[in-house]
Amino acid sequence: MNKEPKFFKGRCDSCASETDVITICSVWGPWSFSVCKECLEQGKDPYKYIVYYIAGAGRWPEDINAGYQKLVREQLVLHGISEEQFKRDVQREFDDLMEIYREADLASYNDIHMEDFFD
Ligand SMILES: [Zn+2]
Repeated sequence: MNKEPKFFKGRCDSCASETDVITICSVWGPWSFSVCKECLEQGKDPYKYIVYYIAGAGRWPEDINAGYQKLVREQLVLHGISEEQFKRDVQREFDDLMEIYREADLASYNDIHMEDFFD
């Protein structure tokens, strides 16, 4: 049985290189993405998914637990992005989410009740 990782030609979701990539599952929510060997070895995850994930949990950093704050700060170093920039990106994504909730006439994600979807 071949146990070599399955790299294929593609675009790295972390650094945008056109190279050999491998698809991995995310610690940042229910996504998978493709990364190159260099990003895989560094543990460098795609920035936009980190923003999506944190914005879904709330505001940076006050709504985020210490463990995830540490993970995020490690990723920001890998991406060369300042915490101020990250805070702005999370806020913009958070505002977009709130707009979606408003349009759906929901105060928040907590107002989604599964029983409303079933008879
Ligand atoms: Zn890469």
